[in-house]
Amino acid sequence: MGKAKYRYNPDTCRYEPFYLKGRALRERAMVFVMIATVVATGGYFYIRNYFETIDEFLLEQENQIRKAEWTDLRHRVYVADQKLSEYIQKDDYNYRVILDSHPLGASIREAGVGGSEKIDSKLLLEFPVIYHEAKRVEKLVHQAEIEIQSFDEIDRILDKKTAMWSAKPAIQPLSNQQLTYLHTTYGSRFHQILGYVREHKGLDLTADVGTPVYAAGDGRVEKAYYSQSYGNVIYLDHVYGYETRYAHLSKFNVKQGQRVKRGDLIGFVGNTGLSKGPHLHYEVLFQGQHVNPINFFQRDLSNTEYQRLIEEASQSHESLD
Ligand SMILES: [Zn+2]
Repeated sequence: MGKAKYRYNPDTCRYEPFYLKGRALRERAMVFVMIATVVATGGYFYIRNYFETIDEFLLEQENQIRKAEWTDLRHRVYVADQKLSEYIQKDDYNYRVILDSHPLGASIREAGVGGSEKIDSKLLLEFPVIYHEAKRVEKLVHQAEIEIQSFDEIDRILDKKTAMWSAKPAIQPLSNQQLTYLHTTYGSRFHQILGYVREHKGLDLTADVGTPVYAAGDGRVEKAYYSQSYGNVIYLDHVYGYETRYAHLSKFNVKQGQRVKRGDLIGFVGNTGLSKGPHLHYEVLFQGQHVNPINFFQRDLSNTEYQRLIEEASQSHESLD
């Protein structure tokens, strides 16, 4: 039985209770259920549209983090790309030019780029931005690997060049301060002791007896002995085809087989052998052939001094031995 309601009865002139029953009660109940359903459904969609669930909130937070990471990653790739380009420029147009080596060229640097199947091509359809970025990173890694190999090669070339530069006879064997006169006597000269013209294949550097004589480059003492013509003489083998000889010494400061560095004191100026006065007779050989030592004095002469030497070299002088 439903809740009691009251209705006016004109016969009794009183309000009397009556109860919904049967069909009327069912209709009323149905209306109530329908209204409740409409209100509940409306409320559900309203809440769904205007309020996030906790999962959606967390997902949104994660998306924001991923977006920031993606932006940062792209920037890092851009910076790495710029840096690598700078290194490639230096490699091709600075280091290799200085070392007399050819640039690697685009064909070597680009070889193998783009042919990789590591990146799933389905990514291109689903996320093209990520696909292109992944390809860019793949190319960057490949170029970096090539550059690392290139720098290893430059390192090996540099080691070899450094050894060659150190071995090359590049300094004057006497200090300029102790040099009293440089006889630029390379070529056919009149020999004052023998009394006839013969090939003079070195330079005569006049200095007092006992003046220090220095190794012109890194090398090994091939000979250090007394010769009838050279007197006390040192032969230095500099490898890479170079050899130097230091004659008429008063004393040795090295022994046969000893290794020397450029600038090491190897002996002292003297007047031994076929010599007219105290001086150093200095010879340079390249691949077994005598060459004019004057061409190897660049390191310790100014441009003016060097020019003066070249001019003097064209004039005739008597040799001292
Ligand atoms: Zn000489």
